[in-house]
Amino acid sequence: MLLESVEYARPDTVEQALTLLSQREGAAPLAGGQSLVNVLKHRVASVELLVDISRIDELRRIEARSDGGLEIGACVTYDELDGSDAVRASHPLLADVAGHIEDQQIRDRGTIGGNCCLSDPTNNLPPLLVALDATMNIRSRSGGVRQVAAEDFFHGYFSTAVGEGELLCSITVPPLPSPGGAGYSTVSLGADSKALARAAALVRGNGVIEDARVVLACFSAAPMRHHGMEAALRGAPATAEAVAAAAAGIGDGLDPPGDVHASTDYRRALAPVVARRAVCQAIGNGGDERG
Ligand SMILES: Cc1cc2nc3c(=O)[nH]c(=O)nc-3n(C[C@H](O)[C@H](O)[C@H](O)COP(=O)(O)OP(=O)(O)OC[C@H]3O[C@@H](n4cnc5c(N)ncnc54)[C@H](O)[C@@H]3O)c2cc1C
Repeated sequence: MLLESVEYARPDTVEQALTLLSQREGAAPLAGGQSLVNVLKHRVASVELLVDISRIDELRRIEARSDGGLEIGACVTYDELDGSDAVRASHPLLADVAGHIEDQQIRDRGTIGGNCCLSDPTNNLPPLLVALDATMNIRSRSGGVRQVAAEDFFHGYFSTAVGEGELLCSITVPPLPSPGGAGYSTVSLGADSKALARAAALVRGNGVIEDARVVLACFSAAPMRHHGMEAALRGAPATAEAVAAAAAGIGDGLDPPGDVHASTDYRRALAPVVARRAVCQAIGNGGDERG
């Protein structure tokens, strides 16, 4: 289907974008357009003014922070994350995950901010950012910067902590724990198919797991931490056997959706598989997927 006629503006600054978004009813930010344009073509939503934020310099920067973390502009593309020396140096897993999203065309246009603001429960980046304990920096015309933990940012499909007239401007990713690491695992029907189950993990410790964050995605409307598995990992030896024991049965308490690709029971059975793989990768012991 063709796009219905819509007004288009390309502001040069965040302030100009926020002015347009707050003053014009029916205005929406356009980042990579990979999802929003499809939604408009299919008449699932309508927008009167597309505010193209994709070329605002301030939103396209990647900054290596002095604490070893990163400040990533919302309009940084997956390809830029993948190719960034700063991201590769401090958070190679983030670069790898971005570099495996769909195909080159999607990676050239899709942005980290759009991926998060779309808030599709199957998208690649939300569970990883929750596991990494990232902070989402949101701006409005009236206020300053509102900081929201990634864990509280995702509410469900197309629903996030970003309010009317606001913009997600950047994402702060703290340094990885030292000693420690991060891991990520996906099960999908095929290399280019939608994910059936994802998990991301962050582990602190060496030899013994001092602390862990385990995040599941595709099991509910938004990424969810599995506090039970995290508690079971705390104080456990950093071995594949101990991780498998902590992951055992974690799907039982979940109520994931069933669809034509995977039943509820099948998704429950996948939960310990992806969680175990993600944590094993984080401890550098038997992780085998990044997808
Ligand atoms: C064929 C295809 C396959 C795909 N496969 C995958 C996949 O495997 N994994 C995956 O993760 N994604 C996948 N995607 C989704 C793709 O990654 C999208 O690019 C992404 O979800 C949205 O990013 P975008 O920059 O294109 O945002 P847009 O489409 O421009 O925007 C998406 C939504 O977010 C809002 N928005 C965007 N940026 C901001 C901001 N800074 N502040 C506030 N609101 C904002 C927009 O108003 C809109 O509502 C796929 C898309 C397509 C078309």
